[in-house]
Amino acid sequence: CGIVGYVGGQSALDVVIAGLKRLEYRGYDSAGVAVLADGGLAAAKKAGKLANLEKELSDRPLPSGTTGIGHTRWATHGAPTDANAHPHLDNAGRVSVVHNGIIENFAALRAELSERGHRLESETDTEVVSHLLAESFSAGGDLAEAMRQVCRRLEGAFTLVAVHADEPDVVVGARRNSPLVVGVGEDEYFLASDVAAFIAHTREAIELGQNQVVELRRDGVTVTDFDGAPAAIREYHVDWDA
Ligand code: GLU
Repeated sequence: CGIVGYVGGQSALDVVIAGLKRLEYRGYDSAGVAVLADGGLAAAKKAGKLANLEKELSDRPLPSGTTGIGHTRWATHGAPTDANAHPHLDNAGRVSVVHNGIIENFAALRAELSERGHRLESETDTEVVSHLLAESFSAGGDLAEAMRQVCRRLEGAFTLVAVHADEPDVVVGARRNSPLVVGVGEDEYFLASDVAAFIAHTREAIELGQNQVVELRRDGVTVTDFDGAPAAIREYHVDWDA
C-alpha cells in the first residue's frame, strides 16, 4: 500500500521509517524494511502496525546503511503474516523487493521458478519478482536492466522497488498502473508511492510515466521504458502543504 526508497548520505532506515509513517493514513496490515550495509542486505518485517516493526528493530537492530527500501502492505494474496510481509528476498538473500499492486500471472511464474529449483517461502504474488530479479541480475550484473527484463514478463498493476547487495548505492523502481514518484535532493534521492513520504526532505519531484523503470544513484537518476529506451524526465515542484 505504501512504498519508500532512499539512496544518499543519511541513515536509510531513519528516512524510510519516517516516510512510511507519513503513509500510514492509507491503512495497511504489515510493514517491513531492507537496508544495504557492509556488503550485504539486512531486512526486517512484521505483521501489524509500524510500532511492531519498530519494536523488532530495537530488539534486533539492523546494521546502518545509506541505501534502503520500505513497505506497508495491504494484503491481496496471502494472509497478513510476518512471512507474507514485504520486503521479499531471493534464496541467497542478496536482492530485496517491495511491491504495491497485483502480479496477475504469479501462479505460472511460481511454477516455473520452482521447476528451476527456487524455494518460494510466502503465499504472495510478489515473491516471484525477487527470484526473477536474482536470476536476471546474475546474468547481467545490472539491477535496472534486470528490472526491465522482469517487468516485461509481468501482467497486472504494480509499483516495484528493489535493491541488490552487489549494487550497493543503487535503488531501482518500476511502475505500471500504480503510482511511483522520485524525490530529488542534494546528493540523495527518494522513491515513494506518494510525495507525502519525502516532502520533509525535498519538494522537487519527478513523476514516472506508465511502463517506466528508474535507477537512483547518489549522483543522479536514469529513466527508461521497459525496453531500455531513455525517457524524458519531467521534474516539478510540489507546492501543497503536507
Ligand atoms: N499483492 C501484494 C501482496 O498481497 C501487494 C499488496 C500491496 O499493494 O500492499 O502482498
